[in-house]
Amino acid sequence: MKILVVEDDELIAQTLRIILSDQNYAVELAQDGQAGLELVEMFDYDLMLLDVMLPKLDGISLCRQLRSQGYQMPILLLTGRDSKHDKATGLDAGADDYVVKPFDTEELVARIRALLRRANSSTQPLLEWGALQLDPSSCEVIYEDKLLSVTPKEYALLELFLRNNRRVFSCDAILEHLWTYDDMPSEEAVRTHIKGLRQKLKTVGAPATLIETVYGIGYRLKPLNARHVPTKIEEKSTSSEQSPEYLPEYPPEQSPEHLQIIQPQSLTIVAGIWHRFQAKVSAQVEVLEQAATSSLIQSLNLELRQQAKQDAHTLAGSLSMFGFPHGGDLARNIEQLLGSPAPLSLDQAKQFQAWVMGLRHDIEQPIEEQNSESTLANTHPLLLIADGDRPLAAALASEAEKQGFKSMIAPDLTTAQAVLHQYQPDIVLLDLEISSNSQESLALLSEFQRQIPPIPVLVFSSQASLAERVEVARHGGRFFLQKPFSSTQVFEAVNQVLKRTEPAQAKIMVVDDDPKIVLVLKTLLEPWGLKVTMLQDPLQFWETLEACSPDLLILDVEMPYLGGIELCQVVRNDIRWGGLPILFLTAHTEVAVINQVFAVGADDFVSKPIVGPELVARIITRLERLKLMRRIAETDPLTGVANRQKSTQDLDEMLSLASRHQQPLSFTILDLDHFKQVNAQYGHAAGDTVLRQVGYLLQQSFQSEDVIARWGGEEFVVGMYGMTSEEAVQRLMPLIKILEQQPFYDDEGQLFQVLLSAGIAQYPQDGNDLRSLYRSADAALQQAKKKQRLTDFAIAIYQ
Ligand code: GH3
Ligand code: MG
Ligand code: MG
Ligand code: MG
Repeated sequence: MKILVVEDDELIAQTLRIILSDQNYAVELAQDGQAGLELVEMFDYDLMLLDVMLPKLDGISLCRQLRSQGYQMPILLLTGRDSKHDKATGLDAGADDYVVKPFDTEELVARIRALLRRANSSTQPLLEWGALQLDPSSCEVIYEDKLLSVTPKEYALLELFLRNNRRVFSCDAILEHLWTYDDMPSEEAVRTHIKGLRQKLKTVGAPATLIETVYGIGYRLKPLNARHVPTKIEEKSTSSEQSPEYLPEYPPEQSPEHLQIIQPQSLTIVAGIWHRFQAKVSAQVEVLEQAATSSLIQSLNLELRQQAKQDAHTLAGSLSMFGFPHGGDLARNIEQLLGSPAPLSLDQAKQFQAWVMGLRHDIEQPIEEQNSESTLANTHPLLLIADGDRPLAAALASEAEKQGFKSMIAPDLTTAQAVLHQYQPDIVLLDLEISSNSQESLALLSEFQRQIPPIPVLVFSSQASLAERVEVARHGGRFFLQKPFSSTQVFEAVNQVLKRTEPAQAKIMVVDDDPKIVLVLKTLLEPWGLKVTMLQDPLQFWETLEACSPDLLILDVEMPYLGGIELCQVVRNDIRWGGLPILFLTAHTEVAVINQVFAVGADDFVSKPIVGPELVARIITRLERLKLMRRIAETDPLTGVANRQKSTQDLDEMLSLASRHQQPLSFTILDLDHFKQVNAQYGHAAGDTVLRQVGYLLQQSFQSEDVIARWGGEEFVVGMYGMTSEEAVQRLMPLIKILEQQPFYDDEGQLFQVLLSAGIAQYPQDGNDLRSLYRSADAALQQAKKKQRLTDFAIAIYQ
């Protein structure tokens, strides 16, 4: 347990340190409130002893600030004056308790114990785990009535485990809890203490595995009900043979042949990242150089050796990824060499030196950077701003850059056409006043529509009459914006259009504590149209997961506080997220780890160092399958248009956009007339053909940013953003006419024709939400049907 004492009186501070250290607490001191705050922000403390009168920042204010920042560790105030007011203020500020100076040592220690107990929500003053008991008031450890003589650190270790009896502690976490930052030893020290503790437990008859190694993560108390059952992982980790049946089998589509199909096209981008990490990598190699030199003169100390091993491990994981496979191999050799506990022989030291030299040589080679510019460009959509209004165009271009677009300004028609043919923009902003002849502007609009695939165009104009809007709609323009508008408004619309036009971008969330890996993944995956959300701190996992709502999760196995294996387990147990595909990244290749990863429900794993093409192939395979499943779930199988569930989501989204931008939205119901009769007379197979044809025509006549769906039976709906009812009629008329003239045949070759009626409603005039719009449109449809029955053909519009 680690305690921070914030006390400016040197004598009191030192006394507290002695008293508390004697109770096996790790103690850190801060002499003023500011320093105290900084320490809390940097390190984890289990409790804080806080003086009220302090330089720079007083105890009460510090306490208030910590609570407002969400820190929850118990705070015990040391108050100088026995004033009721002081105490009340302190407790109001969020302190948990107080003692009055000069304090009674025993009372202070008892209060600390009580607070720690409360913080860990264990009401028993005696900490117990099976037959093991730890009494914090006497600092005694007992196993089945036998007293264990433990060192202070061993005691502290046990206390930490018992107070957090379900938690897995990594070596790092243990170091943070039990040692102060100025005398933190290496992780090896933790292992030594654990080993010592296990031996002592053994001498009193406790199983040595009471403190269990969770492979690749750290240590924890072995769950009680499984105490005598050795886990599969432990069995395997003690055996060196790697039987082939433990290796994961690849589904056929993930076989190595398949992996070769994908080219390492984005590896060049990695070069860009390399520059950002070059200095750090160089410093790591420098540590290895020092270690190699020291080992040659037989003076490699334990600390440097540990550091070197750690750095070699990191380098082994990252170098191949940066295009230094040889360097990666060398680092791995070094890691292995330093991994065995024996001192290095002279030959080994020479070998070490040679490897390090090779490493240095390798990382100093320039790496290929050609094309990185153009490859990167693919990730930024190209926006064409076709506008003669230069200040407006410039403002839009600068906003475009902020939003991650590449933009080009075409101040006149000719330039716009040239850009279209040379660069094929992804989306266009077109000012109708780009030409004084509006027919020319509209012709340009049509030209964008004729591209394959059509290029979405957002049209704006300063005086938009209804006639003009209808014309624009007829030429395929969408999202009509009336000047003046803010550039943020424009980009909300742009992003919305792109989102609806592009195939839905798969989202990937990556949790890895290594910023290098995270960045490399981002650059490897984004050119494939995958959106990558990165998270380095696993403690923020749920918030990020909810916010990002990924299609696939990539987890690192080893991370501080919360490892990937634990994260995977919680995800699998969650109702909403349980089915999320999970892929593990790990520097471990041991069968035991791989096994464990699959045991907790991973779908796949990839070992570090990451080989770009392989990773991309695995991810894409996984996502394709998912996408296919999702498409199936969202599509009406007979007609190929969206089903009701999917289109309802899209329509709701459109409605909220329309409300934010005060844009109209049209909602249409299309219904085949006397369809029962059609079925009865010509057969259901012929009826199906009609339905399929309607689906096909709808898809042909509308753009991908419109919502087209079959809502059941012979009823279809169409939602169009930015369109009034009048505009919608113009857009629907041709479709209805085509269908009306379309000859159908039944299986006996008999010719027949069908009629389609439509009812249209407009947001917000006819309804504020989907349900009321449906009601209005349906009322209009009934009117249309009535009319239809009197005349040959009619469409009613609900006004
Ligand atoms: P109205 O002119 O009033 O719309 O009359 P209707 O007969 O078209 O309307 P109603 O809603 O009474 O009947 C819809 C019919 O659509 C009933 C059903 O036979 C037919 N239908 C629904 N789903 C399918 C399908 O998947 N295939 C075929 N062939 N027919 C279907
Ligand atoms: Mg890690
Ligand atoms: Mg009908
Ligand atoms: Mg019907």
